[in-house]
Parts: sequence; C-alpha cells; structure tokens
Amino acid sequence: MLHKTTRYGQIVFLALALILAGSPRASAQGHPRLNPFRQLSSELPSPNNFRTASGAPGPGYWQQKADYNIALELDDARHLIRGTETIVYHNNSPDPLSYLWIQLDQNLNAKDSIAEKTSPGRLSEAMSFRSLERLHNDFDGGFKIEYVKALNGKALPWVVVETMMRIDLPETLKPGGTYSFEIKWGYNINDRARLGGRSGYDLYEKDGNCVYTIAQFYPRLAVYDDAVGWQHKQFLGSGEFTLPFGDFKVSITVPADHIVGATGELRNPEAVLSATQRERLEKARRGTDAPVLIVTPEEAVKSEKTKVETDKTWIFEAKNVRDFAFASSRKFIWDTLALKFGERTVLNMSFYVKEGNPLRGQYSTRAVAHAVEVYSRLTFDYPYPVAISAMTVSGGGMEYPMISFNGGTPESDGTYSQDKKFGLIGVIIHEVGHNFFPMIVNSDERQWAWMDEGLNSFLEYLAEQEWDRKFSEDFGPAYLVADYMKGDKSRIDPIMTDADIDLNLGANAYEKTAAGLNILRETILGRKLFDFAFKQYSRRWMFKHPRPADFFRTMEDASGVDLDWFWRGWFFGTDHVDLAIEDVKWFKAATGNPKLDKAARYEKENKNRRRFIGNLRNAEEIAKTAVEKDERLQDFYDKHDPREVFQIDEKEYQEYLAALTPKEKTLLESGANYYKSTCPMRAE
Ligand SMILES: [Zn+2]
Repeated sequence: MLHKTTRYGQIVFLALALILAGSPRASAQGHPRLNPFRQLSSELPSPNNFRTASGAPGPGYWQQKADYNIALELDDARHLIRGTETIVYHNNSPDPLSYLWIQLDQNLNAKDSIAEKTSPGRLSEAMSFRSLERLHNDFDGGFKIEYVKALNGKALPWVVVETMMRIDLPETLKPGGTYSFEIKWGYNINDRARLGGRSGYDLYEKDGNCVYTIAQFYPRLAVYDDAVGWQHKQFLGSGEFTLPFGDFKVSITVPADHIVGATGELRNPEAVLSATQRERLEKARRGTDAPVLIVTPEEAVKSEKTKVETDKTWIFEAKNVRDFAFASSRKFIWDTLALKFGERTVLNMSFYVKEGNPLRGQYSTRAVAHAVEVYSRLTFDYPYPVAISAMTVSGGGMEYPMISFNGGTPESDGTYSQDKKFGLIGVIIHEVGHNFFPMIVNSDERQWAWMDEGLNSFLEYLAEQEWDRKFSEDFGPAYLVADYMKGDKSRIDPIMTDADIDLNLGANAYEKTAAGLNILRETILGRKLFDFAFKQYSRRWMFKHPRPADFFRTMEDASGVDLDWFWRGWFFGTDHVDLAIEDVKWFKAATGNPKLDKAARYEKENKNRRRFIGNLRNAEEIAKTAVEKDERLQDFYDKHDPREVFQIDEKEYQEYLAALTPKEKTLLESGANYYKSTCPMRAE
C-alpha cells in the first residue's frame, strides 16, 4: 500500500505512522484456542417438551400445586408459635411419587443445625457481648414436629434430614392425583436482635412489646419439577427458597390488641377490626392521594400501654402464591394507599411503630405503591390484592408474597440523614419488587440467586431513578462493578454459581447481574428491544418456574439479537472487559502528486523508521561498508535523491488527475485521515 499504482481511479494510501499502545499477547499454548465469542452449547440444557428453544414454557410444561389450610397460634408471652396445617398436594407431573419432600426452614435455628456446623464463628480481639452471646447460642430453635398423619388419622412415616423432611406415602401418588395430609408443629421464635434471621421478633424494651415478623414458619412442600426433580437443597441461610404455587387459608390467633398484616386478603374484618377501622379501610379503597391511617399513631401508643388477656383470630386467604408470611404487634400503626389497575384495586400498606416516624409515615406506603406501579409498567400488572411493608428494627429487608419486612429507623429524636431516607425507600422498593421476581416469576432462589436478586436490583435501580434524581446509582452503571470484576480471579466465581457456594454472592447476584442488564438495555439492545424482551420473559414465566436458560433464550428470542457471547462472558465467565488497543495505524490518501508523495515517503522511511539496536551499534562498529570503500560498487541508486521528480512522474500524475471523476477528485482533495486500530483477542 505504499506505492501508487498505475491503475487510475484507485486511491492510494500511505501508512504514515505506527503507534504502539501495548504489547501483543501470547496465545494460550497446548490446546486449541477457544473463541470467547462462540455460541453457548453444553452450558445450556437441551430444549425439550417442557421448555422450548425459544425460552418459553413448552407444550408439556407442568408444575405441582400445594394448597394449605393452616391454623396457628402466636404465644406472645413465651415467644412461640404452634400450628396445624392441612396440605393438599396436586401431582401434576407425569411421574408417580412414593414420597414427598418438605422444607423445614426453621431448623436453621436448631442447636445442631447444618448451618451452625458449616458456618465458622467469628473471633476478634474486641467483641461485643452480643456477638459473644451468639457463640454461646443456647436458643432452642427449630421445628418440633408433633405428628404427620393422613386425613383418616393414620400416622405417616417421616424422616427429618437437617432442614428437610421426607414423608412416605401409604401408596404411590399417581400422575394427576391429589394427596392430603396434616402436620402439627411448633417452634420457639428467635429474637432478631440477638440471633438475627429473616424472621423473628423485635423486642422494644421501653414498653415491653414485640413486633413479630413471621415467615418460613410452617413445613412447606419443596418444589418438584422437570429440571431437577425434588429441589432438595438444604437451607444454609444464604440461598433463599423456592416453593410451588398454591392457595392458602390461614387463621392466625394473636392477642386481641394485636394488629396483623399478612399475605392475602383479610376474610373476617368484622371480627378483628373496629367499625372505625373498617370505615377508614373503605375510604382508602375508594382512592385517595395520600395514605389513609387505619390505626393512627395515637391509637397505637395507647394500645402499647396495656396488654389484654383475650385472643382474636385473623383469617387470611391468598390465591396462587408460593408462600405465606405475616406481621403482628399491638404497637402497629397501619396506613393504606390504593392503586387502581383498571377495575381492580391494589391496597398498598405499611405496618410500623412510632419509633419509625416521621420517616415511615411519610414514605413507607408511598414507596410500596411506587414500586408496584413502576414494576408493573416494566413487567405485568401486579396481580395480587395487597402489597405490604412491615417494619423491623434491623437494617435489611426480606420478601414474601404480598408482604415484606423492612428495616431502618430514624434517630431517637426523629431526625434522619438523606442516606437513611434513601436507604429505607430503597429497601422497600427492593423487597416489594421481589413480588415480581421471584414470588410471581418463581425462579429457584436457593440455587440461582441472580435470577431474582439481579433482575430485581436492576428494576429497583430504575424505580429509584423515577423516585428522585438524587438517588444513588447502585445497581445501575457498569463502572460500579469494574473493580470487583478486575479483582483476583482465584476468588471470583461466575454469576452462574449456586447461591450457597458463591464466594461473592452480593457482587454476583445483585450488582454484576444488574449492571449486565443495564448494559444490555442501554448499549447492546437499546431500551425498546430490551424492554420488549424483558417484558416477554416476565409474562411467559409469570406464575411459573423459569430456569436460567429460559431467561437467556427468551431475551434472544424476543429481541432478535444473538446474545450468546454476552451470556458466556458476563454470566458464565469471570473475565473482565479488558479491551486494549494494541496499535493504531494512521492512513492518509496519497495525493498522487510525485513531489508531495515522494517527500512523504522519504520522510517515513528515514525519519520514522523503527530502529533496531544492532543498526545503531553497526553505525559505529562498521567503519565502512564494502560499497562505501569501493566506488565501483555504486550505481544510480546510491547517488540520486529519492525525492527527485522525473518528467515521467509528472506525466503520469497529469494523466491520473485527468482520468478522475469529479467525485473521486473531491475525495482525493478532502485531506481525510484514516485510522486502523488493532485490538488483541484473548484466547480462553
Ligand atoms: Zn433481594
């Protein structure tokens, strides 16, 4: 490309400079180079009758169903809970089942629990009494199973395996069959401040009252599906859970002065609420522009001063949910803000204590409604009748269908920092958002934390940006995960790692996944394509159990963009983006004018030439070359100036110009610069 050709009309380039910006890398030796952008193959399961190659549920898709009728009693004085449940299990699978697996998540708190045995305690030079107390844990937690029996009263054999229980059926449960049985159970409720936990009670020492946030509290049917059979992963604390959908009827007996918020709709308001409270609820249901107080702060303060001896039973029903949870306290303030979806009304609610004000009263329920509204727009209309945030003291949050428990309180004088405010609003948006992933789009959290945490954190970021422009950018831009991704690779797992063994669960499941989705939305697919595909995934798998491949495949299928390379790099690998520019070559069209082109070429060959050290040494050590010593060895090429222009050069130049079209001439005279950069591609 250095010489002008004699074929007129063709543009000729001079490579003018060579800039080195990095050194070439050696490619891996000893095995064939694997292109990091190649298609996914064995990483994904083969499509089948249950799950199609396009990422949708297949014609043979099935899922189990477990319906519950639970009657429980909360013993406020002794902090324990007792219950009896009838489970109706529908075997929609094509497989006969001779036993059922039940999850006993409360066994996480048992003295000799598998979690206790596998998580090392922490020792340091200075320790608080509270952390020391945790090492001396004498809490008698875990399920006490009183019986498991068939509806005819006959005892069923059962075996507890850590946090799971196998129930042997008297006869095989055939495909399409239903089996009903009853379990009686109880357990001591954990003090959240002392022992931590996703549920438990918070004791307010000043008035001696508790707030109960109760979840994972009853023996729950494990998932049985086409992908893994029984989902029998033990509950170790990190991986959350997955459960089959079902209908619930739950009767909760609590002290008569308690206020209860729960998954589902309250079926007996006349038995547990005053006429005034019912009126307020009706007012809220009709629609207001601010939350309506069902229990006012004054009423809650009055209530916490005494303890009544009688009980009341609150009855809740919930359809098509994968779990049930509730909160109960005599300290509760309760407010509600309705949101309309066509003819349907969703009641957004908060249950909190006076210590949470003014922050909770001003923001909690509005944040619940905001999350429901924004997430619905990006996925599907929120299908449940209520969405609740109940207050806990601790900073974190935890989600269950229709209800979530969220920490965060202002200072004791009621003041709070902006970070505290955004922290609370953020955690509420996040936990309420979990209704969409994984409560409705029911992925397996215990195995694939990113499928709910990542998708939810991504939507949380979008909802927060719609709340206030001052909100932090957590779970947004990719530069926030750059340091993590550039870190020591021996300590980094791919996103596609089981929740309980992932060394960086937070960074992978939440941050890296959310950043990846933002990259797809803002850069690779663009907002329109991404939003369409994301909505498609949400709707396809609403009230079903998606697996990772169903997400990857749907996003490709609906966007029409091959994303295998992205899933491979971002989800299956730990490589960070390290695009380097190895060199840049600068080209400029040769003018064709021999005077200018010859000078430029001379300049390049002599001035900008790369120097080899041997040449520099030879300049000194070789006093005279053979040609220098003996003039007879010299000819034309040793004597003439290469920049010299000959008549023939001029003639060719004029002919060249004459043959150019006006368009070509303009291009030639444009003086444009062209650059060619080389990026090394790393072999795996
Ligand atoms: Zn979460």
